[in-house]
Amino acid sequence: METEWSMDTKIIHEHQFPDPHTGAISQTIVPAVAYAFPDSETAAAVVAGEEEGVYYGRYGNPTSRTLEKKIAALEGGEDALGVSSGMAAISIALLGFLKHGDHVLVTKDVYGGTYSFLTSLAPRFGIQFDFVDCTDTDLIVKAIKPNTKAVYIETPSNPRLTILDIEAISEVCKARQLPVIVDNTFMSPCLQKPLELGADVVVHSATKYINGHGDVLAGFIVGKKDAIQFMRKKLMGDLGQNLNAWDAFLILRGMKTMALRVERHCGNARKIAEYLESHPFIDKVFYPGLKSHPQHELARKQMKGMGGIVSFEVKGGLVEGKKLINSLKLAMISFSLGDPETLVQHPASMTHASIPQEERIKFGITDGLIRISVGLEDADDIIQDFDQALTALFPASETKITTK
Ligand SMILES: *Cc1c(COP(=O)(O)O)cnc(C)c1O
Repeated sequence: METEWSMDTKIIHEHQFPDPHTGAISQTIVPAVAYAFPDSETAAAVVAGEEEGVYYGRYGNPTSRTLEKKIAALEGGEDALGVSSGMAAISIALLGFLKHGDHVLVTKDVYGGTYSFLTSLAPRFGIQFDFVDCTDTDLIVKAIKPNTKAVYIETPSNPRLTILDIEAISEVCKARQLPVIVDNTFMSPCLQKPLELGADVVVHSATKYINGHGDVLAGFIVGKKDAIQFMRKKLMGDLGQNLNAWDAFLILRGMKTMALRVERHCGNARKIAEYLESHPFIDKVFYPGLKSHPQHELARKQMKGMGGIVSFEVKGGLVEGKKLINSLKLAMISFSLGDPETLVQHPASMTHASIPQEERIKFGITDGLIRISVGLEDADDIIQDFDQALTALFPASETKITTK
């Protein structure tokens, strides 16, 4: 009898076997674009999706296929599609469910690229949308229109780490035959399984925790076999958004340590969050693992760990926020997340600088808000770095370093 492996074992072994010709344990890279078939009937069956196989590089390749199967297994989905970036995954998933004249409900603090796709590109193709506060399922139900065809959420949100109840949202949507798409990037399959909670589709930016090394752009869509097959052939293939074999190899390699990395990210993030919460120059800390987080209990119920992203508001505002991140010596100012290095960004002067202040504040982007993607360094070194930067920020005050 086959035993069911635990997540940590699956991450390493699922769908990966020694190469049958050489015995090589690490993944073989197959860069071939074209594949030969024994006869025309087999070729036709593979193209039709009736038989497993690859036939042309734009529709997939054996290296990314290994990775797709692994991601599908980790998320508990029927199938997965590997694409060229997280935004490719998001746009393909949305276009897979929406056509001209359709409407989608979207959580209000959605990733910037998704916001841009919906507000600037989707309307050109007749797709309508509304942003709703998805922390309240009644508001979702009220916002549903006759032409609503999907609900799109992201939890925890960026950068304020608002938690949405995936199970409750899926339940109200299921009753109305509305597919729920969840961006699971911040959690990785290690920490949150939206499909087990009732969602229909998971999307990922594998650029972040899944690859984890800041050297590959990639995305995944996980869902039902027929939906994935449609997206592979009609969206990824026709738009040319495939994941290449080299990047798939790097992700397969990076993923071997995903469980370990994610555990360390979570442990470090908790320490940084606790340190910041006790600091007199910090007004507010956003981290689902803190008791002070308004949805701490929901986070504990739905997530296996609290993730590696911590946001906080420094006293003062725009000037102090900028000055603080400019004084950091270990943490780097950068737009990405999920890397081994601790990365910080100041939304008011960076990602959201083009939005007028009043509008920004409506999205919860206050002037002193800073997002940290806590890295894999020693937590005490990260804390020391923030400590020296905070001390430099308000040099007149007497503060004590609150950790060793
Ligand atoms: C980075 C990110 C994306 C976009 O991913 P890319 O790989 O950069 O295209 C989407 N959603 C979230 C939550 C992200 O952090």
